Amino acid sequence: MSDLAAFRRAAHAAVDWVGDYLAGIERHPVFPRVRPGEIRARLPAHPPETAESWDTILGDLDRVVLPGITHWQSPMFFGYFPANASGPAILGDLISSGLGVQAMMWATSPAATELETHVLDWMVDLLALPDRFRSTGRGGGVIQDTASSASLVAMLAARERKTGFETNRTGLKGTLTAYSSSQAHSSIEKAAGIAGIGREHLRLVAVDQAYAMRAGALEEAIRADLAAGHTPFFVCATVGTTSSTAIDPVRAIGEICRRYGLWLHVDAAHAGSAAVCPEFRWIHEGLELADSYCFNPHKWLLTNFDCDCFYVADRAALIETLSIRPEYLRNQPTESGAVFDYRDWGIALGRRFRALKLWFVIRAYGAEGLRKHVRNGVALAQEFAGWVKTDSRFELCAPVPLNLVCFRLKAGDEANERLRDALNASGRMYLIHTRLDGKVVLRMAIGGTYTERRHVERAWVLIRETAAGLPRLG
Ligand SMILES: *Cc1c(COP(=O)(O)O)cnc(C)c1O
Repeated sequence: MSDLAAFRRAAHAAVDWVGDYLAGIERHPVFPRVRPGEIRARLPAHPPETAESWDTILGDLDRVVLPGITHWQSPMFFGYFPANASGPAILGDLISSGLGVQAMMWATSPAATELETHVLDWMVDLLALPDRFRSTGRGGGVIQDTASSASLVAMLAARERKTGFETNRTGLKGTLTAYSSSQAHSSIEKAAGIAGIGREHLRLVAVDQAYAMRAGALEEAIRADLAAGHTPFFVCATVGTTSSTAIDPVRAIGEICRRYGLWLHVDAAHAGSAAVCPEFRWIHEGLELADSYCFNPHKWLLTNFDCDCFYVADRAALIETLSIRPEYLRNQPTESGAVFDYRDWGIALGRRFRALKLWFVIRAYGAEGLRKHVRNGVALAQEFAGWVKTDSRFELCAPVPLNLVCFRLKAGDEANERLRDALNASGRMYLIHTRLDGKVVLRMAIGGTYTERRHVERAWVLIRETAAGLPRLG
């Protein structure tokens, strides 16, 4: 397809394919009915020797791929957290691919770097984040692929700051200890392993009845580690836990971090987006005490995966942790110190031009459009929670601060597992479970790009009818 006329024809066909897919998305079972290995078995054993036509290739999307797709963009998808895709973001990714630039340094594509810096400062405005995260002061933001990478990078910078920027060179000496609540995302434990801290040196601090970290228990854990001769260095507070959107008390945790000289990272991967609305900004109360913060526009803010916004209050600590200067990457703008080189803000050297899709989304929706989307998800979740309360077979299992409802049949774990399986096997909706206090709980995460009230209403009817049809247990 080096012929540009052929590229244009194929591209138009591909865009039409996506348009048709989205227009007809409700016709597919939300979760595919395939057995392991079934999709692979439809593929030829060996790659083609000669070029195939675009029509043949696109045709195989329908024949081979679609039957094995989980329809995350379906308005009846309520699993995990939303993974919003939207028109402006799809086109941003397309154009980013078309430009095909590497955004590793300012010198490798100045606009990619400057747009990223600027859009991340816009995001400080949009979410009313603390000023210390702005690039115009000592802080700044960068786009990471995921919250997992953001948290790892935060932990590395915290490790270096605590050990005088020596561990990078010498390897870890002694025992550093990190802290999160027992409800924190699994990526924090993974980061502790990768960063050489050791997974067993991440302390899982107890939570209260709302599944939020108990600040008192955090302080006790820090004191116990100090008494044992360990070096506490890092705390991850979660704003919107994955199981139940619990909000850790960031201010109380931040005050403890200040007292003991620990790095505070705030993981708001899903819930952070809610702060586009002034009425939900309470979730970030105390955030000005954080050293770093991340949230994922690729979850609930209409921006295709991957896009995590990561902020630090002191970019020098991050850059000192991650920069490395081989001769072949030396250049005058870098030496001058007048530019950001984002390769020094994350793990990989090569970087995609992801700011483009975020810029498109912010402009195409406006702050108003983003707020409307978030408010829609929250309002529907609140309404759904109200319906659960009116049915005596069910109970709510956690507070519903935003757009996730944790609920269960009172009949026990097995009943809830059967209900989940029956709903998902029907293909008409999709949700997953978690465990809270040892009990199986169903999670209804609302906030898809195309989810409207009628979809949530239909889901509730399906849930009630399916529960009524379950064989009696016992
Ligand atoms: C989803 C989630 C993550 C992981 O997000 P990735 O971007 O996929 O790494 C981390 N933390 C929380 C609280 C999450 O909900």
